[in-house]
Formats: sequence, C-alpha cells, structure tokens
Amino acid sequence: MKSMQEFTEEIGDTSFVSVRGGGTRWDLGGPLKEGTIEVEAPQGVIDFKPEEMIVRVGAGTKLSKLQNDLTELRQEIALAGPPGSTVGGSLAVGSSSHRSARIGRACDVLLQADCVGADGKQFVAGGPTVKNVTGYDICRLLVSSLGTLALMGVVTLRTRPKPETGVWLRGELALEEIRKHCYRPASVLHDGSKTFLLIEGYEKDVEKEKASLEKIGMEVLDGQLEIPPLQKGATKEDLNGGFLDLQVGAVYSNTPHCTNQISEEVQRLSRRIKKNFDPTGRLNPGRMPY
Ligand SMILES: Cc1cc2nc3c(=O)[nH]c(=O)nc-3n(C[C@H](O)[C@H](O)[C@H](O)COP(=O)(O)OP(=O)(O)OC[C@H]3O[C@@H](n4cnc5c(N)ncnc54)[C@H](O)[C@@H]3O)c2cc1C
Repeated sequence: MKSMQEFTEEIGDTSFVSVRGGGTRWDLGGPLKEGTIEVEAPQGVIDFKPEEMIVRVGAGTKLSKLQNDLTELRQEIALAGPPGSTVGGSLAVGSSSHRSARIGRACDVLLQADCVGADGKQFVAGGPTVKNVTGYDICRLLVSSLGTLALMGVVTLRTRPKPETGVWLRGELALEEIRKHCYRPASVLHDGSKTFLLIEGYEKDVEKEKASLEKIGMEVLDGQLEIPPLQKGATKEDLNGGFLDLQVGAVYSNTPHCTNQISEEVQRLSRRIKKNFDPTGRLNPGRMPY
C-alpha cells in the first residue's frame, strides 16, 4: 500500500493537483483546469475495529471491497456508489445513500482524515472516536468539498450494524398510510405514481411489518430495486424511470431549477474557506463543490 509520505510527495507543493478515484463522478463541479496532475490515494484496509465500530482505510480503497469485508463482520458504512467508486471519491462527492434514514448521512461517516493540504504538508482532521468535541469539525467540511480544500489519503470511518434482512415493497398508498404500518422504513421512494418502500432489521420484525403492509395492499418485490440516480435540478417530467427520495425532503417542481440554489452569503463564506485552505487555488482547480 502506498504510504502517506509517498502520497504527499506525489502531490508536492506547487502544481495544480487532483485525486482521481474511480472516475464515476469525475466531471461533477466542472472540468479540471488543463495541466492538472492526477494522483491516486493509498488503497487498502489498514485496521478494522468492529468492537469500536470504526475502520481505517486508504481513501483510494474501492467501496465495494470495503463493504464486502464489512459484511463478514455484519457491519456496513453509510456510503454508496457504482462499481469502481472509491471511499475518498464518495466522501468528496458527499451524496448520502438512499438508505440514509436507517444508516445515516454521508457527512457523519468520516471521523478522521489524514490529508495533504495545499501547502503540500500533511495534517490530520478529526479523531478516531465518534464523540470528538475538540476544535473545528473539519471532517464535515471535507465531505462534499470535492477535493477542493484538502486531499484525503487515509480515513477513519464510522461503521453501522448491518441489518439481518431487508425487503422492498411496492404500492399505491400514501406515505402517511404506510407509516402507520411500519416503524422506521430504511427507504421510501416515489416514481410519480407508485411508492417503493424498503424495510430492514431483524428477520422477525421485518416479517411482521411485511405481513401488515401486505394486508393493506403493498406487494413484495423480488430482490433489490434498481434505482436510477435522479440528477439535481430534475423536474416532474424527469421522473419516468427516476425516483424521488421522500424521506430526506427531496421534492420535484414543474419548472426546471438548474441554476445555483446556494445563497450569496453561503457562496461568500465558501470562497473565504477555500481561500484559507488553498490560497493559490491548486487543489482540484476548476471544480465548484456547489
Ligand atoms: C450511477 C451512480 C449511482 C450513485 N448512487 C449513489 C448512492 O446510491 N448513494 C451515494 O451515496 N452516492 C451515490 N453515487 C455517488 C457516488 O458516491 C460517487 O459517484 C462515487 O462514490 C465517487 O467515487 P469515485 O471514486 O468514482 O470518485 P471520482 O469520480 O474519481 O472523483 C469525484 C471527485 O472527488 C475527488 N476525490 C476523489 N478522491 C479524493 C480524495 N481521496 N481526496 C479528495 N478528493 C477526492 C475527485 O478529485 C473528484 O473531484 C452514485 C453515483 C453514480 C454515478
């Protein structure tokens, strides 16, 4: 496995630089400035601590590999992505899983990040414990920052218990009606006409809820639901073949809203943060995280 020292040397302290993960969201935030060098983060699991529910990995580790290893320990992390995607890329993009109502949001996954800053020096953000109240919460700033503030080499992540079982159901009932029959669904999606529901947990509980939902007309689906990603700024018309995640407040509008939704104050604050972290603009130049 590549060491933090080697990663730091590749990044250097002068040229424009970006970390390439699996490339599954490579153009998000805009194209990279010409002449930017691309480096890869260290890959591999460094340490599992299942009893403390943390895992330490190279940020270049494939998400699928990590999730597979964790499955053996009946744990998982609240990150998801297509084949080839990496832990670091997923954190830098910062989208939450459609199961976030059960497993939590992407911004809560990162406990510690061993990074290289724009000055080419290593620094550590956060710490390896869930309850860490010292200093600024840099880890939450790094998630979704698209690698524009610092480049992550090694990360410590919070794991979650993996549910014993899960089942998808489909029906035409309103969400309020469905909620009366299950305690806390892992996912509730809507495709414009039907509601899709994922219930997870201990086998006994899932069986009970499933029976109750079937009685009110929900139909059990075989296997996993294929969920096409819904792009930001999607409209009702885009829903054919797409889904809305009803639990995290996603809504559709009849008018396109692809223009920037971020307020001027937040943009100003973001620019100040960027200036402080990366005064010469050498980290992922050309990319805008919002
Ligand atoms: C079809 C599809 C479905 C998806 N579904 C889900 C989903 O269900 N749930 C979910 O949470 N997400 C989902 N995603 C988003 C997914 O998390 C990201 O696309 C993916 O994990 C990015 O990883 P990557 O290795 O391919 O990153 P890349 O595309 O290689 O990089 C993305 C950005 O992150 C930066 N970056 C990469 N590594 C680092 C690093 N170590 N340090 C700093 N910056 C870095 C890159 O420079 C780049 O700007 C989906 C994406 C796609 C395309």
